[in-house]
Amino acid sequence: MSAPAAETWLQVRPEGLYCVPGDFFIDPLRAVPRAVITHAHADHARPGHGAVLASAETLALMRARLGAGAAGARQQPVGLGEALTLGGVRLWLAPAGHVLGSAQVAMEYRGQRVVVSGDYKRAADPTCAGFEPVRCDVFVTEATFALPVFRHPRAGDEIVKLLASLALFPERSHLIGCYALGKSQRVIALLRQAGWQRPIYLHGTLMPLCRLYEALGVPLGELRPVIGATKAELAGAVVLAPPSALADRWSGRLADPVTALASGWMQVRARARARGVELPLVISDHADWDALNATIDETGAAEVWVTHGAEEALVHAATRRGVRARALRLIGYGEEAGEDGGEAP
Ligand SMILES: [Zn+2]
Ligand SMILES: [Zn+2]
Repeated sequence: MSAPAAETWLQVRPEGLYCVPGDFFIDPLRAVPRAVITHAHADHARPGHGAVLASAETLALMRARLGAGAAGARQQPVGLGEALTLGGVRLWLAPAGHVLGSAQVAMEYRGQRVVVSGDYKRAADPTCAGFEPVRCDVFVTEATFALPVFRHPRAGDEIVKLLASLALFPERSHLIGCYALGKSQRVIALLRQAGWQRPIYLHGTLMPLCRLYEALGVPLGELRPVIGATKAELAGAVVLAPPSALADRWSGRLADPVTALASGWMQVRARARARGVELPLVISDHADWDALNATIDETGAAEVWVTHGAEEALVHAATRRGVRARALRLIGYGEEAGEDGGEAP
């Protein structure tokens, strides 16, 4: 007997992807009795679930962001690669390379394997485990940057641009807009890798997650709050803030700041101009067009389901290569919506 079609046991419901035999949702959009969470970004990790299964890091980040209670009444940490069985479904997590703790959800049921990637990237990131492709029959992929125009440069080269600007304008603060979970810590770690040893100054909203990253084993060097720092100290300093703070009065305390924004969207120059960004840094925590397509091929999947982003282009490209592909049309995902208007993956 052949395996049942995957959509009979992994269904699209209004709450999100639902595993029928395992009786759990993956990254549900509203509170459910049982959830498996790929990573702690707000659009994937919603509050109020009953049981939550995720990596220990994701659970710690959820508790920090949502509060211990709202992060799930019962929290079950699962180590990467550690398999468990839920209602006849064998389930394990594999690293997704997106942010600390991010994981793909691999499931096997009656001889068929489905992998739900969550958000992912293939570029190296000093703050989290690198993506590991998992061979599967059905691969469920994101599509945030799924257009051929999106080809992310190496993040290290963008940091070189930033360091060149710091050398050119040693009296000016360099204010970098970064979203709070993942991007901030990656930019700091990349700066440290590139040899920037001076204190890095943070907008107050970024400090708690940076401290948590450090507690979870990701060293970030000396971090100081902007509050309390003098204008002289901030001259020539690197200052990180959420993207929403770039344009507001908060930046008035900085010394003639050069404004930068670290985002995959900075490849679209019009976006950078519209936000008044002087120094666009194309640093993305998502796979670009080539990486999305290469990843689909590496999984060996005969079938691809595409979630949030530019679904049609990716469906079209996969279909041309002989992969059965369909858009899931899940509504409600989009990077950190509400935190920075979805502008900074
Ligand atoms: Zn994400
Ligand atoms: Zn997402």
